[in-house]
Formats: sequence, C-alpha cells, structure tokens
Amino acid sequence: MIGIDGARLDAMLARERAAWSAARPKAAALRERARRSQLHGTPQHWIHQFPPPVPLVIDRAVGARLYDTDGHEYADFGLAGTAALWGHNHPAVVSAVREQIDRGSVTLWSSEDHVVVTEELQRRFGLPFWQFAVSATDANRFALTLARAVTGRQKTVVFNHAYHGSVDESLTGSVGVEFNDIDALDRALASGDVAAVLAEPVMTNGGAVIHPRPGFHAALRDLTRRTGTLLILDETQTIPAGPGGCTRDLGLEPDIITMGKCIAGGVPAGVYGMSDAVAAAAMRYTEAGDGGLGSTMASGPLAVRAMRAVLSEVMTDATYAHMNRLATRYANDVTTVIAKYGLPWHVGRLGGRVSYAFMPQPPHSASQLYPRVGASVREALWLYLANRGIVLNGMSGAALMSPMTAEPDVDRHGSLFAEAISELV
Ligand code: PMP
Repeated sequence: MIGIDGARLDAMLARERAAWSAARPKAAALRERARRSQLHGTPQHWIHQFPPPVPLVIDRAVGARLYDTDGHEYADFGLAGTAALWGHNHPAVVSAVREQIDRGSVTLWSSEDHVVVTEELQRRFGLPFWQFAVSATDANRFALTLARAVTGRQKTVVFNHAYHGSVDESLTGSVGVEFNDIDALDRALASGDVAAVLAEPVMTNGGAVIHPRPGFHAALRDLTRRTGTLLILDETQTIPAGPGGCTRDLGLEPDIITMGKCIAGGVPAGVYGMSDAVAAAAMRYTEAGDGGLGSTMASGPLAVRAMRAVLSEVMTDATYAHMNRLATRYANDVTTVIAKYGLPWHVGRLGGRVSYAFMPQPPHSASQLYPRVGASVREALWLYLANRGIVLNGMSGAALMSPMTAEPDVDRHGSLFAEAISELV
C-alpha cells in the first residue's frame, strides 16, 4: 500500500531484530535485571514500545553521539525528542552547569540570571511576562490552570492526536478538533464556553511535520479572540524552526506560550509566557490566594543559569544556519530515494527537524496518519539504521539536527536509507 513489499519487510524486520539482540548481551542482561524493579524493565514504561527488542542502554552521550553499554557507537538524530537538541554536552551548557553547581542548584529565591532569561524570552517571543516550570508538561499544566482561572471557563480544545505532555488530567473534557479545520474550530468555540485552545503552531507529533494551511493561524487567532478564548501555543517541539520558535517565524500572537525540553540544554526546565492582559488577570488570581502556580523545583538557579547559557550562546543564528543546512541535506537524501522508487511518501521539514509521512501529499491533520500508517516500515527502518550506527526518534522516526551534528553522519544516513529502501521495494 505504501510502496513496500510485505514479504521483504517481514524478512528485514526478523533479521534486524535478531541482529540487534545478538550484538547486545550486556543490554539484554541489564534489561532482565531491570524487569524486577521497573515496569517492563524500563525506567519510563513507554521505552519498551520503541522499535529495538532490547532497549538501548547508554553508557555515555557526547556531542550528537551515543555510546552503548555493549560498545556500539551511534550518530544520534533522536536527540531525546528535542530535549537534547543542542547536543548532549554543548560546551556553553556544560561550563554554565559546572560553574553554577558550586553556587547552589535550588534556592526558591531570585537571581540576576532569572531577569536576564525572562528579558530574553520577552525579546524573542514577544510576550511580556514569564514564569518558570519544571518541564514542558508542567508549563502546559500551569497554562491550562491559568486559562481556566482567567476565563472562568472549564473546557479546552486541542487538536486530534496532539501531544502536550502527560497533562491528561488537565485535558479531561477537552474537545478534539482536526488541525487545519477552521469550520470545526468555529463550531467548537461558538458557544463561548472554551477557556483555551492549546496547540502546537506546526504539528510535530504523529510521525510527520504538519504545516498550517495558509490562513489557518489567522483564523485560529480571529476565532479565539472573538469568542474570548485564550490561545496557548506550545513551542516545545517547534524550537528547531528558529531562535524565536514559530511564534516569531510566522508572526503569531498567542496569549500564552509554553515550552521546555531543550530550553535549559539538558537540565529539566519549562517556561510559560503571557500577554499583558493574561498577566494582569493572573496577578489578581494569585493574589487572591486561591491558586498557586509553581513548584519548589522550578526556577532553581542551576536550570536558570543553563537557560541563560542556551539563550545567549547556543540559540544563535549560526546554530540555526548549521541545523538548517544539515536538515536540507538530510531531507534531500530522503526525497531523492523516494523519487527514485516512486514511493507515495512525503518528506516534511521544520528548520532542523525532518520526518516523512507515508502518504503522497503533505498531511493536513494528524488523523490522516492514524491508525499508525506504516508503523512496521518505520520499525524496520529504525532497526536497519540503528544496527548500522544511526539512531532516529524511537517514537516517530523523526530526525533532528543539532549544532554538534556532523555532516558525514548525515551523508551516512543518506546512503544507509537508500540501501534499506532498495531492499524493501
Ligand atoms: N509539548 C509537546 C509538543 C511535546 O511533544 C511534549 C513531549 N514530547 C511535551 C509538551 C511534554 O514534554 P515533557 O515530556 O518534557 O514534559
């Protein structure tokens, strides 16, 4: 159906699974040991759903490379799902963390770094007021709580198959709408009882990049404004688009922005920003003593010093130029192979992020990608590449370029991808 021979696919899957396990006796032994103290023998249960039959056991992560406990080396294009977007040990982050760890990691007080960071976020993303959280999940939870408090409404709208972290309890009662479907959005907001629309500006979950259709963001902003609904944009996965995320790139005007992951270069952190109007309402809400939005572990000086280093030394135009150049190359390699074999696949790119969908046209909504079209092809490709030293995102198969990604690794991916596809068609 998607241009792949079923029997060849099965053969590749069986061979690559067996080869993977055979070459990783230490990882296999550790996994068996872990089964007695961890769900599925993995520290976070969803790791066992990733393609490798024995999960990767990492000895060390250096630059954009991984080294496993059985002595294998990999070029890491997964980069912890953007959490390690700048590389696993960017020198600017390492020196900031080294310096700060001797000066205290959590205080529950302010520092000059906090002000520098919120000023810089203001400059980049356009929203005036910012607060700190522990993760992107945490930032989204605070944003939703705030939106409900500010509007006095309970319902929220998210796009179908979107992922905004493990905030399920906050999304209970949430209405699902197809991304890019303006009429459905209009219907969902019409009754004026929705507190907020929570959305990625460009959808990245679901194994593809889903760009907004022309006019979609204008309509989203117009409909939310007209119905008194707050617009929360989650930039967690769209930071690879540019140094001010999609908000700056596309000139968007959200009421609230949330993000986390790479923002502190590997130290857990999240932030959320808000407009003047939301900030004024939030200050009333928090002064009334009804609600606290925060965590003792949020805004510790360790995370904030790392954030300052990321914002001032890592998220630069030079970094993005490198990421974009490599992503263009990676995308071209994949596109060339797809064209050569006439595969009905589509390559999507958002700055330093590249992924492909198993459909000939660019997807407009994530529902077109479900139920997990091409899941076994993704699995076979993941294993084929990983057995030969290339790691993609375990969930979506997407690739990310970091400032520490090396060009020869991108070329190597291109050759291996071509080899794998020639075997599968
Ligand atoms: N927002 C988006 C768009 C995400 O993709 C994710 C996680 N993949 C999150 C928020 C949550 O991030 P975390 O798991 O680091 O809290």
